[in-house]
Amino acid sequence: MELKSEVLETIEAKGVDRREFIKLATVVTSVLGFAPSMIPKVAEAMAVKQRPTVIWLHFAECTGCSEAFIRTTYPWIDQIVLDVLNVAYHETIMAPSGHNAEKSLNDAMKKYKGKYILVCEGGVPTKNNGVYGKVAGHTMLSTAKKATASALATICVGQCACFGGVQAASPNPTEAKSVSAATGTKTVNIAGCPPNPVNMVATVVHFLLLGKLPALDENGRPLFAYGATIHDKCPRRAHYENEEFVKKFGDAGAFKGYCLFEMGCKGPNTFNNCSTVKFNDGTNWPIGAGAPCIGCSEPNFWDTQSPFYEPI
Ligand code: SF4
Repeated sequence: MELKSEVLETIEAKGVDRREFIKLATVVTSVLGFAPSMIPKVAEAMAVKQRPTVIWLHFAECTGCSEAFIRTTYPWIDQIVLDVLNVAYHETIMAPSGHNAEKSLNDAMKKYKGKYILVCEGGVPTKNNGVYGKVAGHTMLSTAKKATASALATICVGQCACFGGVQAASPNPTEAKSVSAATGTKTVNIAGCPPNPVNMVATVVHFLLLGKLPALDENGRPLFAYGATIHDKCPRRAHYENEEFVKKFGDAGAFKGYCLFEMGCKGPNTFNNCSTVKFNDGTNWPIGAGAPCIGCSEPNFWDTQSPFYEPI
């Protein structure tokens, strides 16, 4: 494949392995549903386009989405942070702490006002004016409202930011909500618990290449990643059609890779591309490892998809 000399020089200067870079560009192109002929364009967008500035905020959550993002080997974090995005503020990976961290946030919001992409991780407690979730004396609710109001676009990463998450599960004592519901802002929702980092990178690349965010479904999820159910593309689907089911964990059907529907699999209800993209450098995914899908990219899945180990 021919890459522009400008692209090659850029990745070489950054010490990025050419083969690995092309591998990532190929995966992102495929996730976006583009033809293979677009791989050089995607590579160009990742290497030489002006990087969008990102402010990444944490609200009520477990930081599992950032952990998934940071610990993934593919795409590797330094490439995402240094080559695709200009991350101006991210509490988990930045150097400043305490008052300096506060200053960094305020400086970044001022400097990039109206131009930054806000990435949110976590739900927002709203009861009693948001008093149940505070950082540095500010409620998460007030910070979310302020940060979304000055952002170019808001991308929610993970179930909590997209739909409220576990803290919004019944009885939801803090009245936690999604960022969209708490602030009245339209958001792009990279759903999942955790979501696949490739879908996040693909969303940014879409923005870089086409100058706009991708088409979304009714729940704000990019259609390129959430346009089909897991059941639609599941490698165990033939067993489902043949009514060959695992009846008990560890039984003969489990060893034969039979369908997990009777073990509670929510794949038929769940829109996501896990079965084709997989996790950890494409190594595996829950159903591949013999665990039924729990529907973690669906709205309010803690309430709507449970009990997790009983058939739909
Ligand atoms: S394992 Fe789940 S997603 Fe796969 S075919 Fe069975 S029910 Fe569908």
